[in-house]
Amino acid sequence: MKRVNVVVLGGGLVGCAAAYYLARRGAGVLLVEQGDLNREASGRNAGSLHFQLEYRLIRYGDELASQFAQIIPLSLVALADWRGLEAELQADLEVGMHGGLIVAESEADVALLERRQALQEKWGLASQLLSAAEVRRMAPYLAESVIAAGYFPHEGHANPRLVAPAFARRAEGLGATIQSQTRVTGLMRDGAQWVVTLVDREGLVREVSADAVLNAAGAWAGEIGALAHLHLPIFAVPLSINVIERAAPLIPHLVQHASQRLTLKQVAAGNVLVGGGWPSRFSREGSTMSARRRAEPVVENVTANLTLAARLVPAIGGLHLLRSWTGITGITTDQMPLLGAVPEAPGLFVAAGGAAFTHGPTYARLVSELILDGRPSVSIDLYSPARFSHINNFMASV
Ligand SMILES: Cc1cc2nc3c(=O)[nH]c(=O)nc-3n(C[C@H](O)[C@H](O)[C@H](O)COP(=O)(O)OP(=O)(O)OC[C@H]3O[C@@H](n4cnc5c(N)ncnc54)[C@H](O)[C@@H]3O)c2cc1C
Repeated sequence: MKRVNVVVLGGGLVGCAAAYYLARRGAGVLLVEQGDLNREASGRNAGSLHFQLEYRLIRYGDELASQFAQIIPLSLVALADWRGLEAELQADLEVGMHGGLIVAESEADVALLERRQALQEKWGLASQLLSAAEVRRMAPYLAESVIAAGYFPHEGHANPRLVAPAFARRAEGLGATIQSQTRVTGLMRDGAQWVVTLVDREGLVREVSADAVLNAAGAWAGEIGALAHLHLPIFAVPLSINVIERAAPLIPHLVQHASQRLTLKQVAAGNVLVGGGWPSRFSREGSTMSARRRAEPVVENVTANLTLAARLVPAIGGLHLLRSWTGITGITTDQMPLLGAVPEAPGLFVAAGGAAFTHGPTYARLVSELILDGRPSVSIDLYSPARFSHINNFMASV
């Protein structure tokens, strides 16, 4: 049986980045991906680098917003990681961090911005509240209906099609083995080792033994947990995103709305990407939804998303929609990532959930340090799967 130090399960951004950070430290790494690399959420997302609190984190009232704001310490680490990523990977990732605006169109929106601002300040993220005149000066492309905005100068975007592949290339260069079209179907402990069962495209089954296993299976991380006979409370959610034809440079910022689902940005090629968490819909298997692979666009949501975008940035109203697509991401019950050691299964680690385009490289770096050194350079205790141990109280891990 082949032996490695770490088997990484999942070839999205988190898995590819973890393979890199582990291999950089000399660990023997096997990354296993059931399809092709970067074909799920990591290659289909909107590419926003969010550091302010997204609308989904503040829309459910003060108490939950205070709890969800615990993501900010990780966001600040992620911000620093993104600043150095192109140099680290020696690759153009189309990173642009020219600032983010969360716009308000009503007094109720302004009140939400103020609440957001207070939470951000509490956790050390220094954003500004801009007046209508200041918004107009900074972002003349925005509609007159915008009466204020929360501004953070470091937000932005990068190209999701480039980032995970750049990590994967570098990981392979450092000796990691990457095996796509291979599905993990079993996880068993054998003494201090994990035995991982893999099935390749031809149906060939083999086993690999490892000191540690990292579950980086995104929306499907719960299925990997189940292989170890444990519950990981992460749920698959289907989203959609749209791309509009190229235009001359107009929008340097990441634009979001204070009280509605919207992210909007102009990417390096000139296209405008419009998203913000509008749902698509899982296809059905019989009478139940199937969270396996496919999500179908919901036309009314696509239309509503684009209508809102064109209301806020009137200049894009005359441009054509080129394509809408869907992707499946993973969300936990408390919207925080699942990041760290799984207490019920020594040697099993997880890094999944949350806005893991923004945070993915940081999850990967910190969990790799935890695997290799026993502790990460920055505490990730807030995001530990131990907060869900009560769910596994009655489970006997393998
Ligand atoms: C439409 C959309 C827009 C988004 N926009 C943003 C954004 O703007 N900013 C942001 O920060 N985040 C955004 N996100 C979230 C972000 O994309 C995800 O959080 C992130 O990509 C997750 O990365 P991952 O590596 O954990 O998961 P994934 O990229 O989903 O990778 C997991 C991999 O595990 C593999 N896998 C699963 N089961 C198995 C198995 N049994 N064996 C082998 N392999 C397996 C899957 O095939 C998959 O390739 C968005 C998500 C979507 C869907």
